[in-house]
Amino acid sequence: MSVSSTTPSPRLWLIALGLSLICTAIPLSTAQATVEPEPTQAPLETTTTTAPPVLTSKDVQVTYKVNTKDKVVFITIDDGFHVSPELARIIRRHKVPITTFAMPRLVAREKKWYLANKNMTFENHTVNHRSLTQLSYRQQRKEICRANTQLRRITKQEPTLFRPPGGNWNKTTKKAVAACGMKHLVMWNVIAEKGVLRMPRGGLTRGDIILMHYIPSVDETLELLLRQIKHDGLKPALLRDYLK
Ligand SMILES: [Zn+2]
Repeated sequence: MSVSSTTPSPRLWLIALGLSLICTAIPLSTAQATVEPEPTQAPLETTTTTAPPVLTSKDVQVTYKVNTKDKVVFITIDDGFHVSPELARIIRRHKVPITTFAMPRLVAREKKWYLANKNMTFENHTVNHRSLTQLSYRQQRKEICRANTQLRRITKQEPTLFRPPGGNWNKTTKKAVAACGMKHLVMWNVIAEKGVLRMPRGGLTRGDIILMHYIPSVDETLELLLRQIKHDGLKPALLRDYLK
């Protein structure tokens, strides 16, 4: 009995060896199966990420005043904390189109107020309002691209225009603006602040870009500005309709 019980053991060894060969072969074949698709997947990923048109700094236009034959001017209001029911009333009574350049957190803070204005667009003014000329390319790009992401989330709109905080920009800024997918760096040529209109030509002319801020005097200044616009035979328009 003991002999007959030991005789099958070489066969068992052979079976065990065969099984172990199969077992080692299985992980090998599955490992190959998981490795193989990678080369085909990698080029697919790169083609999808490079698919949108890549802009360079040469595509970025700097605008102080819009070149147009239309009798229009552009009211832009930047950051600041002051929004009020009175300001909303003035905007709605005269159906004033307004281009807002505000940090995303300020728009988020008064989201209800801002989004109630139907003829208003929300454009890029960076995340932290830092002076861009003091920053590296990577830092500038981060400040600008992140503002777009945040504004998109808050307003469900895609910002297309960029205004540098304090009007400070350099060649690197244009490169960063392009990298963030925008073609327009918007400055201004008229300032309307604290009840005073600073107009280089003594009055308003077509294509003027007017800079204002969301500060407590904004209501009276906007009413004064609207009277001036009417006086000069012009109408306010949205920058987005002219800077494509
Ligand atoms: Zn600002």
